[in-house]
Formats: sequence, structure tokens, C-alpha cells
Amino acid sequence: MPFTLVIHGGAGKITPGMLNKEEEQKYTEGLAAALDKGYKILQNGGTALDAVVDTISVLEDNPMFNAGRGAVFTKKGLNEMDASLMDGSNFMAGAIAGVRNIKNPIQLAREVMLHSGHVLLSGSGAAEFAINQGMTMTPDEYFFNQQRYDQWVEIRDTNFTQLDHKGDNLKGHSADPGYKFGTVGAVACDEQGNLAAGTSTGGMTNKRFGRIGDSPVIGAGTYANNNTCAISCTGHGEFFLRAVVAYDVSCLMEYKGLSLKDACALVIKDKLVKMGGEGGLIAVDAKGNYDFCFNSAGMYRGMRNSEGEEVVAFYG
Ligand code: ASP
Repeated sequence: MPFTLVIHGGAGKITPGMLNKEEEQKYTEGLAAALDKGYKILQNGGTALDAVVDTISVLEDNPMFNAGRGAVFTKKGLNEMDASLMDGSNFMAGAIAGVRNIKNPIQLAREVMLHSGHVLLSGSGAAEFAINQGMTMTPDEYFFNQQRYDQWVEIRDTNFTQLDHKGDNLKGHSADPGYKFGTVGAVACDEQGNLAAGTSTGGMTNKRFGRIGDSPVIGAGTYANNNTCAISCTGHGEFFLRAVVAYDVSCLMEYKGLSLKDACALVIKDKLVKMGGEGGLIAVDAKGNYDFCFNSAGMYRGMRNSEGEEVVAFYG
């Protein structure tokens, strides 16, 4: 059976000319390194779930992306991360929200899925569970990133939040710091035809009150079902939550018989646009068909499959 790995590193106002050559190269290398890691797992007969977790871990370790090491700062100057994971072969899922000092949030999401008896753990309770599972707490300094810090300093005295993409300023805030990082995600179809999806993020710069977006919410930011598709989303989380984006794509395939591409297009380019929500998703089905779909100017993205196809792209 064919196998496919698809990744994203965030969607937003990513336009030609916005990145300099060096930045373009860093993103290209970052995405390619993540694809390498997961593709090898699939090539060696590994599971879609393992490929997704290890691929996302590589992206979380790369400060270019708003997840793990590169997570943005909250109103209080902290790094609070959200992540989720779903196994399409058995509908098992695990997620964490508002968690600090965890090097690889996606790995904690897998622990939640496999060993907690729950689906979604948050804050200090999730950290306590991580310690019980033998995970070590990573010091705050590991998550310090000057660009992220400067990006936060610019708006910390306001009540504005900011998606981590150039120009994606919410509530009319006019600062345009020009940082172009994003949430990360991966979806995979392995040679057994099993699907998995995962998403990991630092959320929004200057977020307050324990704000949580779509990324750790199963059905909104992440969903996998072997009979339909595996989806990981990125964009303005409040809209993705209200539109239940990932599950909606799956439902359109399951109940209306839409193809993967048609289902993604209907949700992202029609329904979400009408609601005013900006962003995109990556998708794969059990035959190895894949899609990148976004209504924003660009999305950091990549794909490698057993047919020998490879994609790394940023712009629309
Ligand atoms: N969807 C994420 C959130 O709202 C942000 C992103 O994808 O960039 O937390």
C-alpha cells in the first residue's frame, strides 16, 4: 500500500518577498528535516502514529516554528503550549493544553492517549501527569527566543493577541513585527492504510486567561479516521473551534461521499471564509491521497510519499 506524510508549519500572510533567502533556506531545511524523520519511519514499515509524533517532535525542536522550543509568549511572559494527537485506526486520542516546561508537547499528548485513561489534560495537572510518566521538566530558558520575546514586548502592554504570522494582527492592532512562524502539524498514512494526525502550538502571542485555541481540541484542530481522512489545522483558532473544521472535513467525506480535496475546499475556502476565519489544513486519506488547503496567502508545508513525490512550499 502507498504511504504518505504531510506536514505544515503554520498558515498566514506568507507572501513572496516577505522572507529573505536565508529565512527561506531555514524554513526549507526545517520542513525537509521533519519530512526525513517521519518518512524513514513509514519506509521501514512503522506506523502513521509514530511517524506523526516523531515528525512533529523535529518541528517542535526547531525555534523557527511556534511550537515546543519556539512557542510564543503569553501576556504574563510565559510559554504555554497546546498539542493533540489522534490514531485513525482505533479513534484513540490524547491532548494537552496550557502546558509549560515540556520539551515535546506532542509526546506528552501520546502519553495522555496511551496511559491516562483521559483525552485532554491541562495546565499543572498535565505537568503532574508528565512527571508521573517519567518526563523531565525543561527549564524556561530553553523556550527563550529573542525574536519571540521582542514580538511579545511590542504588544504586552495592550490587550491585543496576535497570531504568529506577519500581518495577522487581531482586533485592529497595527504593529507588524514581521515574524513569520507558526503552529506545526503532521498527518500520515502508513503502508497498512492506517491514518494519524497531530498538531502542536504555542498559540497566540500575548494570550490571556488561559486561552486555548483549536490545536488541542479533537475534531477542531486535529482528527483522524481510517475510513475518511487525517487532518491537522492551523489558523485563527477561535474560528476553527466554532467551525469544528477537522471533523467537518471527515463528515463531508463520510456522510456526503465527497473526495478529500472537495471536502477540504468546501470547509476552508467556502464555509470558513463566510465565517471570516483565516488559515488552512493538511489532509491525507487511506489511499495516500493528500491535500494542502488554505484561504490565507500562504502556508509552510511539505509532503513526501512512496510514489517518490516530494513538496516543500510556503506561498499560495
Ligand atoms: N490555531 C492556533 C491557535 O489558534 C494558531 C495557529 O495555527 O497559528 O492557537
